[in-house]
Formats: sequence, structure tokens, C-alpha cells
Amino acid sequence: MELYIGRILYPVKTLGPGERLGIWFSGCSIRCRGCMSRELWERKPYQLWDGDKLRRFIFSLPPNIDKATISGGEPFDQPEALLFLLRLLKEKGFSDIWIFSGYKYETLKEKFSQHLELADVLIDGPFVESLPTDLIWRGSSNQRMILLSPKARKIHRKWVNFKVSKRELQVVNLPQGFLFVGIPKAGDWKWR
Ligand code: SF4
Repeated sequence: MELYIGRILYPVKTLGPGERLGIWFSGCSIRCRGCMSRELWERKPYQLWDGDKLRRFIFSLPPNIDKATISGGEPFDQPEALLFLLRLLKEKGFSDIWIFSGYKYETLKEKFSQHLELADVLIDGPFVESLPTDLIWRGSSNQRMILLSPKARKIHRKWVNFKVSKRELQVVNLPQGFLFVGIPKAGDWKWR
């Protein structure tokens, strides 16, 4: 198994509730105008992970790291790799797995129901700069928070229509420069 992964960070505090393991797939064929992750549109050779290395990494994590957010790039542009990762996270005991995808739920349900069965929450749809929203963890109003698992329907229902007046972005200092993690409001992130 080979996976193109742009970055893995912990703790990520702005892509779902709590402190989460953030995993960004590399490569995106959707290419929304105003995307804040343009550096992940193209896959790069150094982003290639083999499945064994990823397995060793996930299983080396302490048990308190049990919530994950998978984003990108576009995770479903690497469907086999995504399924592999989801199975690994479940096997390790992750109890709350979120996926951000630029594809709509209906499309994913038809093609990738196996993937959705392993996740708890899906934030779906492309980022549309002209559709600002105050809904938490969504960049534009077309994006929905879909509660996939029974557990998510119990504990995350309160977030579906939860609005925020301010957006929090986490600033991470990486060797290659500062990285902003989170969901800015449409229009806040300038097209570069
Ligand atoms: S789907 Fe996500 S990563 Fe891809 S262009 Fe749209 S916002 Fe960016």
C-alpha cells in the first residue's frame, strides 16, 4: 500500500472538537477557488508513505490520542489509501474519526460506502468562496456536517447548526514556515 500524505500533526485543535491527530492527504483534483491548502494540490515524491511505515507510526501513538481528522488535499482521490488508513485508525482504537472532503455525501455514499462506515463525521462539498457561513468547521454554506455513526449522532448533533462569530486558526511553526490550521471564513483567505 502506498499513500501520499502531505502532513501529519498533533494536536490539531481547529478541525473538530478536542485535540486531534490531523492527517492531510496530498493531491486534490477538485481545486476550489480560494482553497487555503493549495500546497497540497500536487502530490510530491517525498510525501509517499508505505503502509508499513504508517502502521508503525499509528501504533506508536499513545492511547490518549484517539480522535482524528482526515483532510487534504482530497482524501477520496486516494480511495484505497484512505480505506487502509481508516482501518488502521479503527484497529488502533480511534473513537472519533472525521473526514473533510470536497465531494458531496451523495456521491461518496454511492462509491465509497465502505469508507463512510468507518468514519464518524463527514464535512462534505467543495469550498465556495461566494457562500460565506458562520457554521462551525465549514468554510462555505454549501458544506454539511453529516453524522455518520450512531455515536456521532449522539455526541456531535449539537455542532451541526452551531455558529461562531469568530474563526480560530491554529498557527503551527514548521521547518518550512508557519502553517495555519483551521477553517477560515470564505473571503478571509485571499487567493494567492
Ligand atoms: S476540495 Fe479541499 S483541498 Fe481540494 S481545492 Fe477544495 S478546499 Fe482545497
